[in-house]
Amino acid sequence: MAGIVVVFDFDKTIIDLDSDNWVVDELGATQLFDQLLPSMPWNSLMDRMMKELHSQGKTIGDIEEVLNRVPLHPRIVPAIKSAHALGCDLRVVSDANLFFIETILNHLGIRDCFTEINTNPGYVDEEGRLRIVPYHDFHSSPHGCNLCPPNMCKGLIIERIQASMNKEGKKKIIYLGDGSGDFCPSLKLKEGDYMMPRKDFPVWDLICKNRMLLRAEIHEWTDGEELERVLLQLINDISIEEKHTTNSTQLLSGDCKFQTIPISTHEALPLALPVRY
Ligand SMILES: [Mg+2]
Ligand SMILES: [Zn+2]
Repeated sequence: MAGIVVVFDFDKTIIDLDSDNWVVDELGATQLFDQLLPSMPWNSLMDRMMKELHSQGKTIGDIEEVLNRVPLHPRIVPAIKSAHALGCDLRVVSDANLFFIETILNHLGIRDCFTEINTNPGYVDEEGRLRIVPYHDFHSSPHGCNLCPPNMCKGLIIERIQASMNKEGKKKIIYLGDGSGDFCPSLKLKEGDYMMPRKDFPVWDLICKNRMLLRAEIHEWTDGEELERVLLQLINDISIEEKHTTNSTQLLSGDCKFQTIPISTHEALPLALPVRY
């Protein structure tokens, strides 16, 4: 439906692992990565790792070759294609980088399903080295959100998307993610939106502990098969609901009048039903 914006995290949501770790591990730089991680922000470290790999003679082609064989669940691409075919506006919000994400989505043939990729810029410089820069410049203009890493607050991105949705006549967000960085945006979702956290992953834990803070309806998923089923079901339910509200407002309000309970039956009912929290 044209009224639905579906926001996908990338690592461990679209693909089945972390693209940064995948590239570093496959190109044999894990040891240096682990050694430097305690002293550097993740995003700056990735830029540094690309410098190291470049100086070791690894080319952009080598990186692309690794990205093109990234593992993902076989139902992910069909799920994305179906959501796109149903008229949803699909967007990526990711703390990976543009070069990795576009290379993978192009290879999978689904780049054109997405209207927007919000992520850390990534480009190949004149020496043929991949540069990765932060989404927010945290030295000149820190984003100020204490839930998020310094280079990216996904909540701010969701707020920008929400501000543009009214103008475009879009009504609901379905957000899919797994990581702790997906918690901040889940708090920005409104009543009527849907949060799809990956079960047993950090964002799911955070949501379980802070359920009262979320206004969106929560639908968990475990793998690509369940992601496809839950996502398409939600899209279907929203479309039916949209048709109802536009076509049958009168019919619906008429229906309600018939739900009056006769006085005698009503008196026989217990005063309050026990509610389990
Ligand atoms: Mg992720
Ligand atoms: Zn944030």
